Amino acid sequence: MKRIAVSIIGLISFTFCNCQNNSPFPLTDLHVHCKGGFTIEDAVIKSKNENISYGIVTNVGIGFPVHNDSQIDSVINSLKNYPQFLIGMQAEGREWLNNFSKESISKFDYVFTDAMTFTDAKGRRNRIWIQAETWIDNEEEFMNYLVNTIVKILSTEPINMYVNPTYLPAQMADRYDYFWTEERMDRVIKAAKDHNIAIEINNRFKIPSAKFITRAKNAGVKFTVGTNNMDSNFDGAAYAIEMINKCHLTPADFYQPVNKRQNGKL
Ligand SMILES: [Zn+2]
Repeated sequence: MKRIAVSIIGLISFTFCNCQNNSPFPLTDLHVHCKGGFTIEDAVIKSKNENISYGIVTNVGIGFPVHNDSQIDSVINSLKNYPQFLIGMQAEGREWLNNFSKESISKFDYVFTDAMTFTDAKGRRNRIWIQAETWIDNEEEFMNYLVNTIVKILSTEPINMYVNPTYLPAQMADRYDYFWTEERMDRVIKAAKDHNIAIEINNRFKIPSAKFITRAKNAGVKFTVGTNNMDSNFDGAAYAIEMINKCHLTPADFYQPVNKRQNGKL
């Protein structure tokens, strides 16, 4: 009897865990970097083991190994034996449009950027994931400038997705809900909707919040799943799965790029 009770409890907890930890539909992590010792062959194995498709992304822009048009073909070629993966371009900084032609950009299956690098009103280049390169004279002014920057990026740059969304510098991240007021959320959501740009649900930073995701969903914005891994140590989209269940997201809420190699377009 005791054994049966234990088995039933085991079964119930397994079922419970299963619905919390598994996605109700297949996922594609569109923000996987081969860096920090994590190789393309590791990606093949991890993607298969965790049953999550991947988009492999290269950072391009000033200060990165790939920073001009002539280098794009070699990036695409390096992935030609892995047609199971989508190929993404992560544009860095705001100058990227000057450095890459439309033709080069279109060789990727999708292109995205974030709002973590920008020049502020005093001409200081901010990289807001690095404390020493983040200039906060006044938190509210910084926040207003950041939201304006996000809206400007979404309104002017030819991207499919906005990633690391709503990211705040370490000095302010502990007060995420305070700084991300409904008015600020809605400005970003409207810009994404107006310009048909999907918003990433980021596993590493656990952003945006469930509240933001629900508002964006209600406004008709599409989402993507992304990790932005530093190395091989990432966890199979746990945050995105939590948000899918909590915010009742369905496959129709997600943007899925077309794989140009599988489609015969490249
Ligand atoms: Zn990235």
